[in-house]
Amino acid sequence: MSRTTSRPARLAAAALCAIVAVSCAEPPRDRADLVLGTVCSVRILDGGDRGALDAVFERLRGIEATMSANADGTVVAAINAGAGVAPVAAPDDVRYVLGKALSYSALSGGAFDPTIGPVVKLWNIGMDGERVPSPEEIAAALPLVDASAVAADDAAGTVFLRRAGMLLDLGAIAKGYAADEAARILLEHRVKAAVIDLGGNVKVVGKKPDGSPWRIGIQDPFDDRGARIGVAELEGGATVVTSGVYERYFIGDDGEHYHHILDPATGYPVRNGLASVTVISSSSIDADGLSTTLFSLGLERGMALVETLGHVEAVFIDEDKRVYLSSGAGAVFKLDNPAFALTPLPFP
Ligand code: ADP
Ligand code: MG
Repeated sequence: MSRTTSRPARLAAAALCAIVAVSCAEPPRDRADLVLGTVCSVRILDGGDRGALDAVFERLRGIEATMSANADGTVVAAINAGAGVAPVAAPDDVRYVLGKALSYSALSGGAFDPTIGPVVKLWNIGMDGERVPSPEEIAAALPLVDASAVAADDAAGTVFLRRAGMLLDLGAIAKGYAADEAARILLEHRVKAAVIDLGGNVKVVGKKPDGSPWRIGIQDPFDDRGARIGVAELEGGATVVTSGVYERYFIGDDGEHYHHILDPATGYPVRNGLASVTVISSSSIDADGLSTTLFSLGLERGMALVETLGHVEAVFIDEDKRVYLSSGAGAVFKLDNPAFALTPLPFP
């Protein structure tokens, strides 16, 4: 039998669609695109009007166009060009994200630092020209990493990096903000259920149509993207963000693995035995800032910090595939990969 539909049949179908407009004129449900330096995808499972996905991706591109440190013409690039020269006009969202970044810098005693830019630029990890910088280059860049030399002025709407050569880098937190914005926009467009995944930075919106909890896989830091160590069972509005050694890295001529979370004290990739830290929370900007912060702090100091924060859980994985949970994480996270071992904390 032929698979082509006859003209009358198509007309009949079109007429039926005109009557039952909702089911035939379903708005698009899925989209994936390269934005914010990664693959961003949104999947709508329930509700939403025609413009929902367009609006989300327009906002993601807008955030990239203001907050990227790697592109010309962004607000962050202008702030960097004004370092040591003059305060630069910065819209509310840039100052909001910067304010969050500075708060994680303070919480971590500088292990998280949004002025890490000069060191990031030396290594160029994940981009053309990635390389191991010389100790002299690192020594010259380190004095420029100084969160206390950032002046954000909310009344004037400006940001000023006090010393020439300083470079702001919001890469550790901007994707989290973008996920929160995506969720806000989906709800504005009457979406009832959706999953936002910005390069592994996941946020779920609303209730699943069948009423069951959302189940989000947590990335295996030793395997390809998509391979998981376990699953988080989440309510709508929850977010899961992982920072790890696998996300962006290169192997140097010396055979060493160099990844993209850099220690502001030494200028080298953080080496503390951890492979990844996952944060489960309701605010993606906080989860993103915190996952990088906890990774930089290491297991003992990182776990101590999580336990002081409400409504935040964390899963730490070390290089020996041991998995450590914060006190409430066991209620939402289930390990199901037998290569990994749930392990009691090695300190009181
Ligand atoms: P991903 O971007 O893969 O989700 P993270 O959120 O952990 O990973 O952010 C890593 C990025 O943050 C780096 O690529 C760099 O731009 C920036 N960064 C690196 N080290 C630090 C640090 N110590 N504090 C703040 N930002 C950092
Ligand atoms: Mg982060």
